[in-house]
Amino acid sequence: MQWLRINTLLLLIVSFYSQASTLSRDMTILTSIEFEGRPSGASEPHRSAFYIHRQFEKFAMDVEISSFQFKQGFFGSGTGHNVVATMRCTLKHCQSALVITAHYDHLGKNGYKHYPGANDNATGVAVMIDIARQLNGTKLNRDIIFVATDAEEKGLHGAKHFVSQLDHKPIFMNINLDMLDMQKRNELYALASSSIKPEKNSVISLFERYAVPLKMYFSSKRMARRLNEPQIDWLRASDHYPFHRAKIPFIYFGSGVDKNHHTTEDALTEINLEKLAQVSNSITGLVRSYADSSASETN
Ligand SMILES: [Zn+2]
Repeated sequence: MQWLRINTLLLLIVSFYSQASTLSRDMTILTSIEFEGRPSGASEPHRSAFYIHRQFEKFAMDVEISSFQFKQGFFGSGTGHNVVATMRCTLKHCQSALVITAHYDHLGKNGYKHYPGANDNATGVAVMIDIARQLNGTKLNRDIIFVATDAEEKGLHGAKHFVSQLDHKPIFMNINLDMLDMQKRNELYALASSSIKPEKNSVISLFERYAVPLKMYFSSKRMARRLNEPQIDWLRASDHYPFHRAKIPFIYFGSGVDKNHHTTEDALTEINLEKLAQVSNSITGLVRSYADSSASETN
């Protein structure tokens, strides 16, 4: 049975590689039955971690799996495995690193119920890999660290672990990607640190160039009110929060509220891949503006 499953997966890889972009191929594989809803907690890294590791290895980056323990329930504990890839600064004098995060874990499966986690957060991971692909070979004035975090769904554990390991190393900014499908409202949302406020208009106009209408907020409450879901705390909802707590500026990109969130309906068929490519291009443009230019440090 194991062989059969691997063969099916290989077939999927081969057929999609020849036809479609790597973005749709990564989405297809990450949401496949074989990836079991990308559960977290096991002592060995899930196959989705190895898949992401292999994609990062295709580019000029140092890639490692960083494992950690986290508390589960009252007495239990689990193991998480972040996939960390670093694209090196090419200058002699480098500015502080930019960290891009996207969690790859999802809810796993429950009996016969498969949770594909397409928007949450195969979109973020696929876009993160696509950003690395687009930046590969670019001359950079700072390291770009790509972190595919684990155990986000169980309490942002991967991001907490990454931040705890920084040991006062200065970080320019965290760009966190969690649920990037623009299908429903045809808008992308960003919540950012107040220090990024002066850049609001230039960020929005950069996204306009890629036909991505971006709504940018600096207050979680305001964002929640505008999305008609006042109970959601967007500041604490995803991996940017541990960075914020460590006083690292952040921009979180997401699709706002998704009716399929944490249901078996969060499937690839619901995702607009064309728009996802536009989102990927616009965020790549933003990363380029920070890593190519001599943008002044904010910390
Ligand atoms: Zn989630």
